[in-house]
Amino acid sequence: MKKKFSAVTKLIENQKTYYKKGSTRDLDFRITHLKKLKSTIIKYENEILQALKNDFHKPEFESYASEIGIVLSEISYHIKNLKKWSKPERVKTPFILFPATSHNYHEPYGIVLIIAPWNYPFQLVMNPLIGAVSAGNCAAVKTSELAHESSLIVKKIIEETFLPEYVSVFTGGIPVSTALLNERFDYIFYTGSTNVGKIVMEAAAKNLTPLTLELGGKSPCIVEKSANLEAAAKKIIWGKILNGGQSCVSPDYILVQKEIKENLIELLIEQIKKQLGDDIENNEDFCRIINDSHFTRLTRLIDRNKIIFGGKTIKNSRYIEPTILNNVTVDDPVMKEEIFGPIIPLIDFNTIDDAMETVKSLEKPLALYLYTNNIQIEKQVINGLAFGGGCINDNIIHFASNFLNFGGVGNSGMGKYHGKASYVTFTHIKGILKASSLIDINLRYPPYNRKKIDIIKKLLK
Ligand code: NAD
Repeated sequence: MKKKFSAVTKLIENQKTYYKKGSTRDLDFRITHLKKLKSTIIKYENEILQALKNDFHKPEFESYASEIGIVLSEISYHIKNLKKWSKPERVKTPFILFPATSHNYHEPYGIVLIIAPWNYPFQLVMNPLIGAVSAGNCAAVKTSELAHESSLIVKKIIEETFLPEYVSVFTGGIPVSTALLNERFDYIFYTGSTNVGKIVMEAAAKNLTPLTLELGGKSPCIVEKSANLEAAAKKIIWGKILNGGQSCVSPDYILVQKEIKENLIELLIEQIKKQLGDDIENNEDFCRIINDSHFTRLTRLIDRNKIIFGGKTIKNSRYIEPTILNNVTVDDPVMKEEIFGPIIPLIDFNTIDDAMETVKSLEKPLALYLYTNNIQIEKQVINGLAFGGGCINDNIIHFASNFLNFGGVGNSGMGKYHGKASYVTFTHIKGILKASSLIDINLRYPPYNRKKIDIIKKLLK
């Protein structure tokens, strides 16, 4: 055990030495490695698909769309834009600092630690890594022990693409994570649960290491009476069955306006049958729960008295049928933690203000989804509630845009990434003012006098 941890220290030391040589800061070097990463991923596409299938029965379409494809598109976006993003940016200089010019220069942090969860075990390692490499850093990557096979293929791809002193991979569990957190990094990027996020932040605080926390929580889905209910039901069911409901941005619970509830329930049930058929337990398009402990946790969240659809669970295959629970209240067990599975609790509301009060009574969520055709209600919800990000009349898909910042707020996280935001996250922006060596205005220097005070008062107001 001890030997393993000193191996962690040694590898990080090697990375620090390597980083100082400066090669990772070279723009062509970064672009070459991003291209190499892309071609290695394409080379191992089938192995990635198989690993995801073996870990939690993830269907090929979902694996390509939400893991491989999303990563390839992020790499292409970085390759295309990196030269533009990394240029020093000329900014204005206030008149009082005349004569001078000002620029924001970009520099990588140095050695960054990326800790990933199991639920999108490929893209949640690769997407932050793309940002880290694109910004010119070295990286140590810790995959999740719970998605074992996906972890191994991630390791293979990284080791074939990068020297270990450039990007290193660690595949162990909590002890490895703890050993890594004992090292001093220049930036930490953590994705996972809120509880572990607190441990990571505490470790970062010891060295004043800046960090991003991509956490989870209960993301509400509000369905208001003006919404197109058929479209809403179709999209909500898709969002809830994607990855078996094990997505950080999955719609966690549904707040539905009373007068349309019965109609929505019918449509939700119809959509489950349409999308997954009548024999869901043998449907190849539906994921299983990642492990026994999450399976047991989820079965405990199903209040048998409130089931209006589903409820079947099979321990051996860790199968949980999409299950709708009716008349749920915020005091029910299913509302006490992030669900992370295909359970759909329905809470009804009278007015949009009531729905907003329910959301406010819980922690600030990572995502919020609103189904409405009423523009006033859309504005009221966007402006009146704090949440990481989300969609109007859809769910989950905001995650797939390179143009939107992605990240939580409050208990659902801090910091943001995706597209340019990933590059910026892993970059320290250094503001530099260049003064004239010929002209030097005397105003700031003592001895001070009334005239100087009057001038400064006129200039700074
Ligand atoms: P987790 O917190 O259990 O584990 C995440 C990582 O932390 C793993 O690599 C694990 O090995 C490590 N870890 C676990 N316990 C640790 C400890 N005590 N000390 C140090 N490291 C530790 O999370 P998970 O179950 O893998 O993932 C699910 C959670 O992640 C959900 O809450 C979900 O919402 C959240 N999530 C968030 C996002 C996002 O982008 N915001 C994306 C995916 C998942």
